[in-house]
Amino acid sequence: MYPDKESKSQHLYSRALASLPGGNTRTTVFIKPYPIYAARGEGCRVIDVDGNGYIDCINNFTSLIHGHAHPVLVAAATKQLALGSAFGLPTESEIDLAELLVARLPGVEQVRFTNSGTEAVMMALKAARAFTGRPKIAKCEGAYHGSYDYAEVSLDPTPEAWGRNAPVSVAYAKGTPDNVLADVITIPFNDAEAAVSLIREHGAELACVLVDPMPNRAGLAPADKAYLAALRAVTSEVGALLIFDEVITFRLGYRGAQGLWDIDPDLTTLGKIMGGGFPVGAVGGKREFMAVFDPTSGKPALPHGGTFSANPVTMRAGLAAMELLDEAAFVRLDAIGQAVRSGIDEAFRRHGVPGRTVGLGSLLKIHFADRPVRDYRSAYPSEQEAQRAAIFNRGLLNRGVLAAGYGLMALSTPMTDQDIDTIVAAASESLAEVAA
Ligand code: PLP
Repeated sequence: MYPDKESKSQHLYSRALASLPGGNTRTTVFIKPYPIYAARGEGCRVIDVDGNGYIDCINNFTSLIHGHAHPVLVAAATKQLALGSAFGLPTESEIDLAELLVARLPGVEQVRFTNSGTEAVMMALKAARAFTGRPKIAKCEGAYHGSYDYAEVSLDPTPEAWGRNAPVSVAYAKGTPDNVLADVITIPFNDAEAAVSLIREHGAELACVLVDPMPNRAGLAPADKAYLAALRAVTSEVGALLIFDEVITFRLGYRGAQGLWDIDPDLTTLGKIMGGGFPVGAVGGKREFMAVFDPTSGKPALPHGGTFSANPVTMRAGLAAMELLDEAAFVRLDAIGQAVRSGIDEAFRRHGVPGRTVGLGSLLKIHFADRPVRDYRSAYPSEQEAQRAAIFNRGLLNRGVLAAGYGLMALSTPMTDQDIDTIVAAASESLAEVAA
């Protein structure tokens, strides 16, 4: 039962506090009173250092789609490890993975690999600036795109800081320079009229509009097709690039979110599942825009390196993960996602707790909100909703199901129907605790 003062996790955390600020490296893995330390993973399960087993619906914050230690991925990575883990020369592996991404993603004709989604977003924003010669970017209120200063703006504004008529740019981290705030236009998600008007207002200075078609931290509501279509049209009108951040949404379908919504962005950022469990990121896009990276005729408009970019172990594991993720795998992921969403929605009704799930495919998020959730503001939890979410997450944990903070669940291909039933039953019992 968590928390337990005598647990090995608790002891490791006490030790970690001395050498790591706050006891860890990733704020997102911290839970109160102490984080749970993983010992190993197998399929859709994680075993912690105390020997407790969990069905893993965190999946390293959506980055694992085949669970843990999938034998095909282990074989691909270890084969490359034995051949050498990194070279100051290109390898065939990066061409193989780039070709697969180009074949799958309608908006991607060329690819540039990075080590994380953060770097991918940073390079995409810089590419848009290099291509257009313009300084500003637009992004959605509440949307997370990693930790590049510009991409972090207005990630978590509190209601007191919400602009009355339109979102305003609010610093996320202390020390964010004022000129960063001045160069970021914050637009509302899923409000086409307001977003278009802001984009037109700043159009002449705007290098790009960055949008995640189903932004997790802004509530995980899928974008309306009309919203994305309006962004597509207005960016073309003002000469700015449209960037889809598909670091998470690439797991929604064989052709990513751009395939599902049938809208071609100019640039796409990728990461997470594409690395087969290893650190990864990529910027892809139309040849015309990707030319800013091209060094063949001298110094490129946007020089880009990265000691570990296109690392061959990552490339080989990523390619194996993508090949396993065929169209049939998506049919199964959609089905289990739908089963969990409808099972939990039904449990909300049965226990008389206000709330709902949102999401698509293998992703879902639980909101204790008695209202439709469409964007950051409608997803913003009241104090009571936040308390209910905390009871619910603790309930899941003590029933052997791991969910990420903010009520996010990511499912994986090794999950069986029985695992899905276990997840829904744990959620239902936890909702009964919330109702009590
Ligand atoms: N973009 C989105 C939509 C993300 O969800 C994330 C990470 O969660 C990032 C970018 C940053 O990726 P990374 O954590 O690999 O830097």
